[in-house]
Amino acid sequence: MLLLSGPNMAGNELKYVTECITTGWVSSVGAYVDQFEKMSAEFAGTKYAVATSSGTTALHICLVMMGVNNEDYVITPNITFIATCNSIKYTGANPIFIDTDVDSWQMDLNLLEEFLTNETEQRNGVCHLKKDGKRIPVIMPVHVLGNMCDMDRLLALAKQHNLTVIEDSTEALGSYYKGKHAGSFGLMGTFSYNGNKIITTGGGGMIVTYDEALAKRAKHLTTQAKSDPFEYMHDAIGYNYRLVNVAAAMGVAQMEQLPGFIKRKYEIINFYKTELQGVGDIKFQQVSDDVKPNWWMPTIFTTKQKEVLKALNDNKMQSRPFWVPMNQLPMFTNDIYYNHTDRSNFVYQNCLSIPCSTYITDADLKAVSDKIKECY
Ligand SMILES: *Cc1c(COP(=O)(O)O)cnc(C)c1O
Repeated sequence: MLLLSGPNMAGNELKYVTECITTGWVSSVGAYVDQFEKMSAEFAGTKYAVATSSGTTALHICLVMMGVNNEDYVITPNITFIATCNSIKYTGANPIFIDTDVDSWQMDLNLLEEFLTNETEQRNGVCHLKKDGKRIPVIMPVHVLGNMCDMDRLLALAKQHNLTVIEDSTEALGSYYKGKHAGSFGLMGTFSYNGNKIITTGGGGMIVTYDEALAKRAKHLTTQAKSDPFEYMHDAIGYNYRLVNVAAAMGVAQMEQLPGFIKRKYEIINFYKTELQGVGDIKFQQVSDDVKPNWWMPTIFTTKQKEVLKALNDNKMQSRPFWVPMNQLPMFTNDIYYNHTDRSNFVYQNCLSIPCSTYITDADLKAVSDKIKECY
């Protein structure tokens, strides 16, 4: 089976993990956790980074620190991976979904602006939904597939409406907007190291921020909020959301290879574009000139989505449909979905992601391309 986006462990992973095991430093603290955090902050261009057990828990802690609760809403795109919305629901808040842009597959900022203008109002410097008077303290944009929206406009809208920006940049490690790294635009940003992400620690995540107090608070809350170095004194309801040293050791080895991984992702997308552009009605994700994406997961748009998915998977070339739009999931059918023509469904019905592991050979890329072409 040709994996969609498999882990590439060709660097120092084994060496660093072995060192953890032979020294016994496998668990909650250790030099690799510190090093991984330092490397991540440096790479993202933020001052601080706090490692977490997953991207989902990173997002959850960000919302907890903003005091988001069951009286609140959080704005997010309707096309995202479920983890974004789960993190919102963990706080008791409800998501407000904004429909997607049909070309970039990011949150549609025209719709966002229209929603904020028509449906919300300011009360004492806090955004509220007019309909029921509940607070909307946070917007959580998602850099879908490592692409990014017009961040200048998003930040301006957020500022105008007093929304704190927490970036779900879990897919965007190595993506830039006007030369600035994803995750460094909001008050906080997040990364994920799940197995199919651009780097992996098996599972893991990171919060990045410029704010020292928030970074300290995040470390505190993710490590059970222990307030005394000796006594088991705790000053808040904390979480066991820390990343273990043995996973961080993998993370350090992966970070060493990240530039090479991104280079290979570019070769992969360029290969596919050369082979498939103009074949049938195949289109690729549209990326603005301001964005340098990481091309984490090459995805094509075609009305023959079902045929192509079947042809590839039947031939052991793992490919997958886009996520089911959030408004179509049973937990969210009663939540607000702001749209005109439900483009989320249109994008969902026609998109599929194709094999893009960094270790894939050009011969395999050619074989996948040929298999796709046979469908037309
Ligand atoms: C991967 C991902 C996450 C976080 O996932 P974890 O598996 O918890 O690390 C969150 N949001 C999006 C959009 C993702 O793709």
